[in-house]
Amino acid sequence: MVVRLGGYARISLDKDGEELGVERQRVDYRTVAAVRRWTIARDYIDNDVSAFKLDVVREQFEQLLADLESGVIDGVIAYDLDRLVRQPWDLERLIRIYETRPGLVFSTVTNDINLSTDDGLTMARVMVAFANKSSRDTARRVKRKHRELADSGKNGGGFPPFGWKEDRLTVDPVQAALITKAHDDLLAGTRLSTIVREWQAKNVQTSRKTGKPITRVAVKGILINPRLAGFRAVKHQKHIGPDGKPVMGVWEPICTPERLDAVIAALEGVRAQHKTANQSNNHKYLLSGILRCAECGTRMIANMRSSWKEGSKGSRFTYRCPAANDGGCGKVSRAGEPLDRHIINLIHDAEAKLKAPAPDTAEWSGAARLAEVGQEISELISAMNAKRISAATAIAMLEPLEKERDELEYERNRHTVEQVKASAATVDLSEEFERLPIERQRAVIMKHIRAIVVHPAGRGARKFNPDLLDVVWTA
Ligand SMILES: [Zn+2]
Repeated sequence: MVVRLGGYARISLDKDGEELGVERQRVDYRTVAAVRRWTIARDYIDNDVSAFKLDVVREQFEQLLADLESGVIDGVIAYDLDRLVRQPWDLERLIRIYETRPGLVFSTVTNDINLSTDDGLTMARVMVAFANKSSRDTARRVKRKHRELADSGKNGGGFPPFGWKEDRLTVDPVQAALITKAHDDLLAGTRLSTIVREWQAKNVQTSRKTGKPITRVAVKGILINPRLAGFRAVKHQKHIGPDGKPVMGVWEPICTPERLDAVIAALEGVRAQHKTANQSNNHKYLLSGILRCAECGTRMIANMRSSWKEGSKGSRFTYRCPAANDGGCGKVSRAGEPLDRHIINLIHDAEAKLKAPAPDTAEWSGAARLAEVGQEISELISAMNAKRISAATAIAMLEPLEKERDELEYERNRHTVEQVKASAATVDLSEEFERLPIERQRAVIMKHIRAIVVHPAGRGARKFNPDLLDVVWTA
């Protein structure tokens, strides 16, 4: 369903040195509307009219209220609440309409208020009361300044971002190498927490240099920073400029946009995958969860042998069916190390048989179309902003294009991930397997083996016997 909004913009004569021009307000709310896929059915522009003065009638504001009430529009979008109302009385009129027509949209560029919640209503009343007293708002001016910096692709303030030198323009080769390696690892299936541990072990520090171990949140933020691919980011999101395109920064990028998207997809994909494949994604042992007890079918778990010390005989750990109170039968167990070695040998053989099918290095076929669609979208938005075509027309044309772009981008990310995975899964196993992190070893195993059923070994049977295993292969 098309959501038709009224866009409201106003400029007043009370000079506080930072008024946003009407055109600027319009560009901003249209950008927000385009992103949310709302249609601007009509612009309501009050020029040079103070919302303070009680005796001034704001014609367009009145029209907006009337259209909202009669259902000509489905909601309002403005730059901020200040533009729209400054008098408590006007706010109450607006609120009454929102109460009588549930489902109306209310949005502002600064996202400062939501009239559809009780808290939002209270906030709005407080804000209008304050705005009514004082029109000067330093915070907004500062925000505006940031926004202008962002539009021009210039750097904001604060600490230099990880990956760049103090000048925030030149790549720091050491930090960039860490990022690139972490991206390679993530795309090949390494878990984020493994990378976090690696960085902590190397005492990697953010530019704040707190001396404390770097956190998971910080590492993730660094690895998916839009800035890496040259995008100007605001609050960790790509900043979209007035032309509807992401604003590019003036600094040296560290990776391509495609690679950044693939990393983000990998981080999200891995999370989803773990949820379905395994209850827990924190496996310390190669085969826990893959082994099943032949007696009761329960997934076997691994335990360190408490009696084991350096120099002791036998395996350091044991796989066992959990005890009855943990959902198993507790009847089957097996020494861990010989079992792991046996399975690794089976995997080497299986991989050798596969003879490493050459990774599909075919170029993704949709690239040209994606570029075309991006160009069309940007032309439409420019045309709309320059008023060469009406907003309604532009947005009707934008919607299918944006949908196609999203689908193409999704497809491209999948393609990138598949390619990297294909080349990662065909590493020379005999060389590399032992050095892979445990979750990647497990991934290689699960590529071939669905489950391994472990039969009871019987009393006194000390030697590892592969005949007591049923391996269920994936194909
Ligand atoms: Zn059992």
